[in-house]
This record gives sequence, C-alpha cells and structure tokens, in this order.
Amino acid sequence: MKPIAQLFLLLILSACGTPPNDEATATASGPDTLASPAASTSLAPAPAPSENDTLAQPELANPDAPKVPSVVYLTGKFDPSKHPDFVKVAAKYTDGDPYVLHQATYASFEQMHAAALADGVKLVMVSATRNFERQKQIWEAKWNGQRLLEGKEKANEVYPDPADRARAILRYSSMPGTSRHHWGTDIDLNDLENSYFAEGEGKKVYDWLTANAATYGFCQPYTPKGAARPNGYEEEKWHWSYLPVATQLTDFAIANLKDADISGFAGAEAAPQIGVLENYVLGINGACKE
Ligand SMILES: [Zn+2]
Repeated sequence: MKPIAQLFLLLILSACGTPPNDEATATASGPDTLASPAASTSLAPAPAPSENDTLAQPELANPDAPKVPSVVYLTGKFDPSKHPDFVKVAAKYTDGDPYVLHQATYASFEQMHAAALADGVKLVMVSATRNFERQKQIWEAKWNGQRLLEGKEKANEVYPDPADRARAILRYSSMPGTSRHHWGTDIDLNDLENSYFAEGEGKKVYDWLTANAATYGFCQPYTPKGAARPNGYEEEKWHWSYLPVATQLTDFAIANLKDADISGFAGAEAAPQIGVLENYVLGINGACKE
C-alpha cells in the first residue's frame, strides 16, 4: 500500500469513530459509506486537528445513517434521533412524550395541524417513529410470554407453533423490521381505539382527516379489512402515513425487500411462513400505494 493510501485509511478510521456495535449498523457503514469521506478528504491537504469539527459532513457525523430508500432504513435498524433527516416534534403537537419524524413528514404535519385547528379540530400525536430495537423489545416480550396477549394469553404456551404465534401477536403488534413506524413517515393521532373515532370529538377528528389529510400528503393505510384489503392489520383510524416519502419506501420494499431480510429477533423464522412482506408490509389501502 502506498504511503498516501495509508494516510487516507487512517483518516477514514478516525472519522468513523467508534466501531459499529451491531449487525444493522455494520450493514449501514459498508464500503460505499466509507468511500465518500475518503474522496473528499483526498482533494484537500490534511486538515489541522482543530478544523475537524467544522469540516465534518453529515455522513461523517452520522456514519451509520442509512439512505432513503435502503433495506437498513426500511427495517428501522438505525437510531432516528441521530439520523440527519429526522427532527424532534414540538411538544405542542403531542401527548407529552418525545417523538421524532422525518423532516418532510413533520413540515407537512405542521401545515395540516394548523389547517385543522383553523377548522376547530385539534390533532394530537400519540405515537411517531419507533425503530427496530424498540419494536424488538415489544415483540420479544410477547413472543416469550413475558407480556400477555390482550391481557390474557401467554403466547409461548398457547401457540407453540411459530407461525401461529406470530399471527397471534400480529393482531396488535408489528414484527420488528416490518413497521411503517420505522420510516419516520407514519403517525398515530389522538387515540388508539377505533371506537373513539365513532362519535363526538373523535368523529369530528376522523371526518376532518378523511376530507383533508390527502391535501397534506397523508393517507390511512389500514382501512377496514375486506375485498379491497384482504390481508394485514386490522383497521386503524388513528394511523396516517406521509406518502411523498412513504411511497418510495413501499416501492422499494416491493422491488427489494424479502421475508429473509426480516431477521434479528426471537421468532424471525416465522416471517417467511406467514408471508410477512406480502400480507403485512404490503397489505395496505390501495390509495396509499400511489
Ligand atoms: Zn400506528
């Protein structure tokens, strides 16, 4: 190796900081990610140590940030609070918990929130981005029987067969790696029960959203199950997806994601058996695919 190449390698290693600590981040920081800082560094003289911070590009500061779209991004195997495309949601829009969203989703949500308020409707975010690690905690607690299904069933005892157990958990929880909440494009609004939206204030909120959300790029992916949507999760009147970003991720999933990519947690072997990609990831309202 030439001395100049050794210098570049040294610069790359020091720029990337701590090594990846799991499979997901290791995938994110592949050769392509490492190549671009080297290329830009090679065009300039070696910087003095004190200039390192000011010269840092987003990908240097976030070497593990996956691109949109990519399998790593799609499966939520990154920390959204450290991704350069994500922003914090202001407390005035939420139920008080801290949330982050893709910045494009957030910008449009702010406009939709203001328009709803002008019509006397208050939209309250009750969930937003949840990454693979968070979903893995929820899923494995149910898979191992530490958390009861619907408050009564120990999944590991009632459903010894992995495919049966996965389907039972999927009534109310996504398999890690398959949730649209990984993407920074999907939000839950006001309440997590369909009955809330059937009358009174909840009906007002839902009627407003069905009439106006599309103007701001939002779509309800989990409409009632039936001929038009035979597979996937039950209806969720609270869940809305920002299509300008989400559609490219859905398209990418159709072309590139495989059931075998859904891995890294207890029960992942059930993913191909239940066709998690076809039935759950793609089992959405047709209007949200366009
Ligand atoms: Zn949701």
